[in-house]
Amino acid sequence: MLIAGNWKMFKGPAEAGEFCRALRDVDLPSVVDVVVCPPYVSLAASVQALAGTEIGVFAQNCHWEDQGAFTGEVSAPMLQELGVYGTLIGHSERRQLFGETDATVARRVHACLEAGLHVIACVGETDEERDKGATHAVLRRQVAAFEPDENLVIAYEPVWAIGTGKTATPQMAQEAHETIKELIDVPMLYGGSVKPDNAAELMAQPAIDGALVGGASLEIDSFAAICRAAIPS
Ligand code: PEP
Repeated sequence: MLIAGNWKMFKGPAEAGEFCRALRDVDLPSVVDVVVCPPYVSLAASVQALAGTEIGVFAQNCHWEDQGAFTGEVSAPMLQELGVYGTLIGHSERRQLFGETDATVARRVHACLEAGLHVIACVGETDEERDKGATHAVLRRQVAAFEPDENLVIAYEPVWAIGTGKTATPQMAQEAHETIKELIDVPMLYGGSVKPDNAAELMAQPAIDGALVGGASLEIDSFAAICRAAIPS
């Protein structure tokens, strides 16, 4: 089981360092892998505060080139120099608000894996696509951009469930994960309004190998509760 906390554009370096120092003292289940994804500016403080622990620090995005004229981007070697272990790629907010496409997601994923970073690549349908009955076609199209890799994890995050309080039912999540697993056999996280009170039921689905958590990862108590709910029974 893997639980990853996506902090989005929350927590500057001081707050991130404080959170990570507090997280060190929490009794997290050893059978659950735990990862936090701070904003770029807070990566160094987080890596430093979590040094010597099993908790990994991931970035929220990463460019495919090592360096160059790409204002506003950072590269895999830059992240690795900081001690960052992996990165999210293709989060729906990147796709919807910043023009990320299946093609650019594929380039980023490929380059990060080549460089030795772990990758959580995000896929998921919008409300409109689900209403049209296009969910499985959209997932198939998005997943076609990836090739299996031992350092690749896919997060299924229905866009309509992110930050909305609407969660996919465990059956809906299980079905979507099955569709994806038929195409690519890598561990899969569910994301979309995962909270302490719905995490256990979601994590109990056979095709769900963990969670990508946004809002509920910003508070230690709720994040730790989700990590505990992921202990396999
Ligand atoms: C996310 O940001 O990846 C996410 C799933 O957010 P939330 O848990 O707040 O829906």
